[in-house]
Amino acid sequence: MRFKTLIAIAVVLVITSFTIGYYLSISRVEYYLSSSEIEWLVKSIAEDVSVIRNLTFKELPNVVVVNKSYVLSTWGSEIPEEVLIFGDILKMTLLVPKDYNISSSYRGLLGIWVAASAGNTVYVVQEYFTRGESPLVQRVLAHELTHVLQYQYFRTPPTHTLDESLAIRSLVEGDADVVADEYVSIKGLGVVSKVSSLTLKDPFIDIQLTPYIFGSRFVEYLLSVGGWGLVNKAYEDPPKSMKYVMFPQKYLAREGVVDVVVNVSCRVVHEDVLGPSYLYVMISKYFNESYALSMSSEWLGDKVVYCVNNTYKVLNWVIKWSSSKSAEDFYRTFNYVLSLNNATSVDGLWFVNDLRLSVYVVGDEVLITSYSIRSPN
Ligand SMILES: [Zn+2]
Repeated sequence: MRFKTLIAIAVVLVITSFTIGYYLSISRVEYYLSSSEIEWLVKSIAEDVSVIRNLTFKELPNVVVVNKSYVLSTWGSEIPEEVLIFGDILKMTLLVPKDYNISSSYRGLLGIWVAASAGNTVYVVQEYFTRGESPLVQRVLAHELTHVLQYQYFRTPPTHTLDESLAIRSLVEGDADVVADEYVSIKGLGVVSKVSSLTLKDPFIDIQLTPYIFGSRFVEYLLSVGGWGLVNKAYEDPPKSMKYVMFPQKYLAREGVVDVVVNVSCRVVHEDVLGPSYLYVMISKYFNESYALSMSSEWLGDKVVYCVNNTYKVLNWVIKWSSSKSAEDFYRTFNYVLSLNNATSVDGLWFVNDLRLSVYVVGDEVLITSYSIRSPN
C-alpha cells in the first residue's frame, strides 16, 4: 500500500513540473544554492504569488531539497501497470512504433524534474538551482507555489479516465502557469521558456503536455469572463473532459459529453476514455496542429476497451462524432494514418507489423479494432 502511495505521489510530481524542466538544458553547474538560500528564495517568491493569486498562504510551504539521483532511485524504479497498458494503447492506435519503450519515456520524465509540489511541500532538485537565480527557476517556483495555494484552498475530485484526469490537471496547471507568467511579467524577467506546443517526438510526453498547452488558455478565458472568482469556482465544478479545456466556451455553455458504450465478449483488462486531446496528439503527429484542433472540436465522446486472451491483446475503440460527416472525415484520416504506416490491406483488414486492424464508420461513430499477437513470456 505504501508503495502505491509513493507511486501516486510520483505521478503527481511528474504532472506538476516536468515540462518546465523539459526545456531547461543544464549547462555546467559550478555553485549550487544552499538549502537555506533556496528556502529564502521560495519565501520571497511566495509573497508575490500570494498577491497575484489573491489568496493568502495558510501556512508557509516546506522546502525539501533533493538531487537527481534521489529522484530516480525513489520514484523511477517501478513503472506503474497503467503506464505499461497505456504503452500498448499507444502502439495499437498507431501513435508509436512497435519498438517504442514507454518505460524509458516515463523514466526520462523523472530525470528532467526541476521542482515539484505535493501538498504543502515544494521539492526542488538542487542541480538546477545555481547561484544567479535564473528567471526560469523563479518561474518554476512561482508555478509550484501556486500548487501549494491550490492544495490549501481547493480539492479536486478523483478521476476515472485519461480524459477526465487531463482536464482537471489542465485547470490546476493552467492556474499555476497563468500566475507564473504574471510573476515573470511584474518582475520584468523578460522572455522565459515555457511549454506552448507539442514536441511531436514522443506522443506519451505530448499527451502529458496537453494540460500545459491548453490549461493556461482555459484559465485565461475564465479570468477574462469572471476574474479569479470564476477560476476558484471552477474547482467546485471542474472540467470533466479536455473538450471543455480545449474549447472553453463549451465549458461555460455546459455542452454535454456522450458516454459511449462498447460491447465486447473478451476479458476486459482496462477501459478508458482517451478524449479529444489524444486525437489532437495523433492528428498533429501525422498532419498538423490546426487540422488536429479542428477535428478534435467535433469529438463528442469515446471509449476504449482493452482485452487480453491467450493469443491476442485486443483493443476496441469507438469514437462518437458530432455528425456522420465528421465521422467519415476521421475514418478517412485514420485510413491515411494506416497508409503512412505502410499497412497492407487484405479482405478489409489492415496489417501493420504484428498488428491486425479493422476500421468501420457507422453513422456518427468510428469503430477501430486492433489485435496484437501476445509475445510468449
Ligand atoms: Zn504544475
